[in-house]
Amino acid sequence: MTAYLDHAATTPMLPDAVSAMAQELARAGNASSLHGSGRRARRVVEEARESLGALIGAGPSEIIFTSGGTEADNLAIKGLFWQRRSTDPRRRRILVSAVEHHAVLDAAQWLGRSEHGEVVLLPVDRTGRVDLDVLESELSADPDAVALVSVMWANNEVGTVQPVRELAELAHVHGVPVHCDAVQAFGGLPVDFAASGVDCLTLSGHKIGGPVGVGALVARRGLDLVPVLHGGGQERRIRSGTLDTAAIHALAVAAGVTVDRREAEAARVSALRDALVDGILDTVPDAVPHGDTAPGGRVPGIAHLTFPGCEGDSLLYLLDARGVECSTGSACQAGIPQPSHVLLAMGVPEDQARGALRFSLGWTLTTADVEAAVEAIGAAVARARRAGLAGVAPTAGVVRA
Ligand code: PLP
Repeated sequence: MTAYLDHAATTPMLPDAVSAMAQELARAGNASSLHGSGRRARRVVEEARESLGALIGAGPSEIIFTSGGTEADNLAIKGLFWQRRSTDPRRRRILVSAVEHHAVLDAAQWLGRSEHGEVVLLPVDRTGRVDLDVLESELSADPDAVALVSVMWANNEVGTVQPVRELAELAHVHGVPVHCDAVQAFGGLPVDFAASGVDCLTLSGHKIGGPVGVGALVARRGLDLVPVLHGGGQERRIRSGTLDTAAIHALAVAAGVTVDRREAEAARVSALRDALVDGILDTVPDAVPHGDTAPGGRVPGIAHLTFPGCEGDSLLYLLDARGVECSTGSACQAGIPQPSHVLLAMGVPEDQARGALRFSLGWTLTTADVEAAVEAIGAAVARARRAGLAGVAPTAGVVRA
């Protein structure tokens, strides 16, 4: 039996989404074609747009379908940057939290290197939360120089939830648009685009029981974005590419099931997460949980701990050998595991950050999976400690999900 505790990397598709997708895959029709099959496909896409919009507090015209979270993040960061700079060349500063996913961070840093942007990393506290005072001082220092702000709703490594509405309000006082990556939030928390006040927001299908390779940028009406992909202009002339009708349909179905069950699932999954963390701490008392462990401080499905004296990647392989699948937040450069940028930004010392594991829980997870993980952890930690921090260097495997 495999205990799958890596739902934040990708969660299995929900059965309703699988059948919706399979049904649609068997049909012909490009949603841009004018004949009957095309019009039928278009209807499926527009119904999906309408229901996804209603589920996330947005109008249908505010949904721009993309190939996933990475594309939506790139469109938001680059599209907003280019648009804002085109109306005023002074707008070069990109304010992003230091704990963003690489789809945001690397897009911003690319603009810094290649497009004369200036990236400002907003610091976070020990729980991973952005400091609003720092944001305010960065904004007020020279509001005309700021192109955009991007802060995620919930962090993918430690799960910490950001004060999104307050951030948006602050930025808007200075006339600066805000992007929010809600990829990890939508599955476990109520996410309302209109109420959040952000200007655009990223979603991804495969984190909520939909397919891999589809997502959306929710962009408020009137928000101008310079396209990243050029072509047929299918999505508001902002995003080109033939629409993946089957995946879009399945995404909307998955989002519907997610929202219907969210409250009950959040309670079930939080209880399992707490049991997991308690069980781990009973077995390995010096393990250190990270993220905001106060009620409501993080998404229900993420437990993140460091195991002093262990290399996270070694632990991952040792657990994998015992049928327990989880992830580290580390990246691997030239065969040497690097500590997670998220933990370092939170002030976790490098040697501790190297011993990090993320367990992420989702809809297929059972009590037996939690018990399997708790049972496996003691021996894995003991062995990883014997191996020491030099540990097993993986040949590949950058975990940035
Ligand atoms: N943003 C966050 C917070 C994520 O966790 C992920 C997942 O890897 C992404 C963006 C990228 O999404 P996708 O895998 O759909 O490209």
